[in-house]
This record gives sequence, C-alpha cells and structure tokens, in this order.
Amino acid sequence: MEKNISSSLKLVARRDRSDSVVEVNGIEIGAKKIVVIAGPCSVESRSQILETARAVKKAGAQMLRGGAFKPRTSPYSFQGLEEEGLKLLAEAREETGLPIVTELMAPDSLDLVLSYADVLQIGTRNMYNYPLLRAVGGVNKPILLKRGFSATVDEWLNAAEYVLKSGNSQVMLCERGIRTFENLTRFTLDLSAVPAVKKLSHLPVLVDPSHGTGHRSLVPPMSKAAVAAGADGLLIEVHPQPEKALSDGPQSLNFDEFGDLVQGLRLVAEAVHRSL
Ligand code: PEP
Ligand code: MN
Repeated sequence: MEKNISSSLKLVARRDRSDSVVEVNGIEIGAKKIVVIAGPCSVESRSQILETARAVKKAGAQMLRGGAFKPRTSPYSFQGLEEEGLKLLAEAREETGLPIVTELMAPDSLDLVLSYADVLQIGTRNMYNYPLLRAVGGVNKPILLKRGFSATVDEWLNAAEYVLKSGNSQVMLCERGIRTFENLTRFTLDLSAVPAVKKLSHLPVLVDPSHGTGHRSLVPPMSKAAVAAGADGLLIEVHPQPEKALSDGPQSLNFDEFGDLVQGLRLVAEAVHRSL
C-alpha cells in the first residue's frame, strides 16, 4: 500500500510516529475515547442552534458543528448566516460548553472565523485550495480537513502536508464520501480509507456518514461501521426538524435518532477497545 503513496509526505507520514492527539479545549481527538461532533448542516436561527446544542450535548456529543459560510452547489441556495451564524454558535458554546467546529471557505474570512471557532473545517470542495491550506497552516487552532470528493488518499494526505508544512500540526482528517458511479447514495463512504490512513499517517481520522451517504437511515449503521474500522470520531448532522432544514435535511437526524445512535455506538466502541 505504501508504494502508492508519495514520498513527499514528510510530516504527515506515519513512519515510526505514534498516534497524534489533537486537543480542543481539553477534549482529545485521536486518543482512546471516540469523539462525536454533532449539529446542523447550517446555523439557521438562534432557537435552532441553541436547541440542537442542548440536545446533542445531552445525548453525549462533545463538540458542536454548524456552518455559517456554506459552500452550496447552487448560488440560489441558502448561503449561511455568516457572522450572525458565528455569533449564534458562540452563544451556544457559552451556554453548553461545547467547542465549535465551523467551516472556513476563503482566506479573506480567516480572522473573522478564527475569532469565533474552536476548530476550522476545510470542506470537501476546498481540499485542493492550496492558498487556503497554507493560510490555516499559519494559525494556532485545530483544523478538520475533509477529503475532497474526488481526491485520492494520496492527494488528501498531501493537502494535510500543506497545513503541517505551513506550521500547524493540529490536523484531523475526515472521510466524507467520494464520488463513484453509485447513485443510490449521495456519495460512497470510503471506509477502507480509515484503516488505510491510520496506517499511512499518524493523524486522527474522523468519519462523516451524513454527507457520505446522504440518507438519514444509513447514518447509524455507517457510524457503527466507522467506529469498527478504527475512526477516532464522527461528524453527524442533527436538526430539530430535519424536514424543514435549509440544507441537508434528508441526511440529518432528529434529536431522538441522534440519541439512539450514540447509545448504539457504545458496544461497538467497546468491541474495538475504545470508549465513547
Ligand atoms: C458540511 O459539513 O456541511 C459540508 C458542507 O461538508 P462537505 O464539505 O464534506 O460537503
Ligand atoms: Mn451539510
């Protein structure tokens, strides 16, 4: 397997390094405990994000996700609440204590997003955005680097190499599905990438089964499969009323479904000597 991976991976490659642990406000990612990050695709309103933050915290999530700058396929779709969304996320953190994971789309909003976020998410569409990767390499905050939906593992690891080479070693990788000929699911969640990347790199690996499948009914079984495959954490979309969501409703879980998912993960985590 290693022979297919470029030798230019000086900082990201496993070699003889032990697992890197990324710390976010005292929460360790890449250690024994599996980290669950949950929340809506987009921040839509004060009540939506506050209710979701309370519910996911109660169910066992350790961090809150929510997009304020949204990379949408159509320019006519909801583009996010921008700074207002970031303020609402900060209010949710204030109340629940949950650190915030939110997407940074462009270098020109780096300072703004940095002033609110605990983790900067680089989305699938930006994995090849080398100026953006260099920009987040210059900050002292953890980065959640999603796999490009048409990126090979080698390209994805090289994208991480950009961030580390620019000075930021706090990188978490996130498998979120790749585009294949299969159109039953929104993307094809490449779970073989999890043990492969854990072998090739020392960085923590998370899985996003929400974007990876596009269907809420597939999110709980693929979450279990991700944990069984060695994922260090999960990124899950949760909405108070998924059928009314402004983005990604069909793949979002309601609060009860998310609570059941977390409960259902416990035995799988134990089986692979992890905890939740
Ligand atoms: C998201 O997390 O809501 C998102 C847009 O993810 P991705 O970049 O993987 O599509
Ligand atoms: Mn989404």
